[in-house]
Amino acid sequence: MQRTVLVFIGPQGSGKGTQAKILADREGFHVIEMGGLLRAEAAKNTPMSEQVRAILAKGDLVPARLTIELIRKKLATLPTDANIVFDGFPRSLEQAQELDTLVRITRVVHIDVPPDVSVKRISGRLMCPAGHNYNTYYVPPEKEGICNVDKLPLVHREDDTPTAVRHRLELYNEVTTKVLEYYRGQGKLLTVNGDASVFAVSQQINQEVQVLV
Ligand SMILES: [Zn+2]
Repeated sequence: MQRTVLVFIGPQGSGKGTQAKILADREGFHVIEMGGLLRAEAAKNTPMSEQVRAILAKGDLVPARLTIELIRKKLATLPTDANIVFDGFPRSLEQAQELDTLVRITRVVHIDVPPDVSVKRISGRLMCPAGHNYNTYYVPPEKEGICNVDKLPLVHREDDTPTAVRHRLELYNEVTTKVLEYYRGQGKLLTVNGDASVFAVSQQINQEVQVLV
């Protein structure tokens, strides 16, 4: 049986993580996400974990070779016919090319979201310490800055200002354009409209994946 290997690419606030999780819960896909791999490696006690901790502590860009090595190790722990979804990886052309040497990618799903929507989804986030989430634009609390459920003060992340989010989006677009072109050239790119409900986006993805599995 041929395995299905998907790549989800989308900006912050595109909901790609949520969509990857839906696919995992519904179809048993294994989600591979670089942040998770890095945190898991950092918690170990190996020469590589030391390197990872240093990079994470400094907030440096993770070298392509290291990301690929982490993915190679992760793939080795999965059955060879396991269906996989890469959540937000690759992030650069170099990573995309390296990934092709490790695994045969079936389809790349680009979750497209207009920049303004992305900015509102991220910069509007308000979090309650007990896990109740709000959004200034979409799901405002009844009383400003206070959780409806437990009246705890809501927290807004400092680096989630509209300006900062826009800046991160520009950086994202710069590198991602090349990655998308690369997959378009391979005839694997599929773009879905991410400016819709979680359910509607999931349906769009499902339609495409149904064809494959
Ligand atoms: Zn709360």
